[in-house]
Amino acid sequence: MSRCVVASASLIAIAAAVFTGPVFCQSASSSSAPAGSTLRVFDPSLIDKAVDPCDNFYKYTCNGWFKRNPLPADQSSYGRFTELYDLNRQHLREILEAAEASSPSRPPNEQKIGDEYASCMDTAAINAKVIAPLQPELDRIAALNSTRELPALLGHLHLIGVGAFFSMRAEQDANDATSVIPNYSAGGLGLPEKGFYTRTDPKSVEIRKQYVEHIGKMFVLAGETDAQATKDADSVLALETRLANASLSRRDMREPKNLTHPTDMASFEKEMTKFSLADYAVADHAPATGKLNDEQPKFFAEFNAMVGDTPIDQVKTYLRWHLLRAFATSLPESFETESWRFYSHVLNGAEQQQERWKRCTSRVDREMGEALGQVWAAKYFPPAEKQHAMEMTQAIEQAMEKDIDSLDWMSPETKVKAKEKLHTVMNKIGYPDKWRDYSSLTIVRGDILGNQERVREFDHKRNLDKIGKPVDKGEWYMSPPTVNAYYDPQQNNVNFPAGYFQPPFYSGNEDDAANYGDMGSTIGHELTHGFDDEGRQYDKDGNLKDWWTKEDESKFNDRAQCMVKQYDAIEPVAGVHLDGKLTLGENLADLGGLYLAWLAWLEKAQAAHVDMSAKMDGYTPDQRFWIAYAQQWCTQTRPEQLRTQAQTNEHSPDEYRANTVLSDLPDFAKSFSCKKTDKMVATPACRVW
Ligand SMILES: [Zn+2]
Repeated sequence: MSRCVVASASLIAIAAAVFTGPVFCQSASSSSAPAGSTLRVFDPSLIDKAVDPCDNFYKYTCNGWFKRNPLPADQSSYGRFTELYDLNRQHLREILEAAEASSPSRPPNEQKIGDEYASCMDTAAINAKVIAPLQPELDRIAALNSTRELPALLGHLHLIGVGAFFSMRAEQDANDATSVIPNYSAGGLGLPEKGFYTRTDPKSVEIRKQYVEHIGKMFVLAGETDAQATKDADSVLALETRLANASLSRRDMREPKNLTHPTDMASFEKEMTKFSLADYAVADHAPATGKLNDEQPKFFAEFNAMVGDTPIDQVKTYLRWHLLRAFATSLPESFETESWRFYSHVLNGAEQQQERWKRCTSRVDREMGEALGQVWAAKYFPPAEKQHAMEMTQAIEQAMEKDIDSLDWMSPETKVKAKEKLHTVMNKIGYPDKWRDYSSLTIVRGDILGNQERVREFDHKRNLDKIGKPVDKGEWYMSPPTVNAYYDPQQNNVNFPAGYFQPPFYSGNEDDAANYGDMGSTIGHELTHGFDDEGRQYDKDGNLKDWWTKEDESKFNDRAQCMVKQYDAIEPVAGVHLDGKLTLGENLADLGGLYLAWLAWLEKAQAAHVDMSAKMDGYTPDQRFWIAYAQQWCTQTRPEQLRTQAQTNEHSPDEYRANTVLSDLPDFAKSFSCKKTDKMVATPACRVW
């Protein structure tokens, strides 16, 4: 179960960048101009009074922002999250440019982040080396004589981050949250998801054709003739299609039971008759004995069969493609641009590559997020903000307790268990208490490809080192400057990186109505993930263990079905509907989270004797709460990305995260005097939490 924002099964974020490339954890991208400090949580100047709030609240609250923020050419989507990440990234750039200046007195972490940034910025040196830095790895693949030697080679390739065939990472045992075991998961695809290989509509066929062209172009750049490259690209698609056919869809991967098949090395080895797991484990530095999880037995059975019947040359071609794909951003610009052309332009509609400094800054944030983030957080996250964030989180947890008590569909027995789980949630805010130790990682100035290999090897070994040790719940899976948040069902904790606690999502200078409508709803969102269709299956300790009565479970499912239908009906681009089941967990979290923030804010406002009829900027406090909520979702998105998002992403597009969620809440309709027949009032209105 991946720990990534993009491809996460076990870690659930507020927002996810759509798959835009072969980078494993893509962070939010950015436009050309950094945002200023004028961002507001509740911003009346963005409101378009020509729109009826009961007809389209999203346009009503965001039209002013759309006018001010035309979609930049280097973006496939641009919204408030990217607006803030722009600002954070500008600050990170300043830190990196200072660290880049070579000096013997630099602390070790600054040497690492500074030299990696400098290596990435030096395109002349990167271009001059052509493909030479990758040659030793290409030679290893070329030397493969038979599939008997594949396990050792694949173990090595996984160690340096090549995503061929499958992946193996340490994960918490779903049935015993106190232990960490190897987790073997399906993988090996260059397209975002199974459906990209199996759909037969003209647009999907066209994307596959462009994918094959892309693979061919990468082979040509690596020195193949046009004719050979075309043949090789076809053979890669054939092999990946076979893997895809044996894989679960993203939608089916949301069901934890589909991914939980505990076994042990000895039994797994008996099934993998054509692939020596022992040889693989040695090369990958993985344990050769003990418990493990085989996420997708059907996939591994097919993989085993493939190893037995695929010609060795086809396997080598496939590995060569995944090697080029994994290191495209460390090779000459021609490779990087070709990779961008397919993943960001074809799949997501971006018209221009981001400037180099932006890519290099994001790269260091991805690779050594805590080394860079430690310096950033000391400068940009004052302790007072952390304190207020903690208070808001606690207020929303208290609101959830009252909400559980008030549910008319849940039995007292299940309510006791639900509250136990709620009381056990651990709140993590800002950045880790204990920073990651990078001392064993070597970063060499001028060796970008070698650095990338070493970073991945460092990360892989650090991950595998957790096996057999107590679970470290203090670890973070997002860097401090990240504009995002997540809930981890196996650790039952909510995590809010410091990068998020700034305008336009939160401001110490704005009132509770604005902050609860915006950041409060996010806190509620993450908390509700513990109780969505996936999260509710884990108990308070993070074990996949049913704590619901059968009757309560069926009532939950009936209510959730209302939302499945509601989102199934949404068609963000002509011919493509949202998948109500794929997006159910996020939609439940959006609706439940906003309602919890509303309850918490009402209570706070009452205690503070807030005058509910007093207007500020022309709006009552409750109206400002809803406007602040909707304004966090102002986003411009290209149709290509909307299509890819609808087909791959658990998050609904931002327009629906505003409008559909609000239309389910009678309190919203009351604040703006919307009538039952208005578009912003759903019939039936869905409600679970
Ligand atoms: Zn979420």
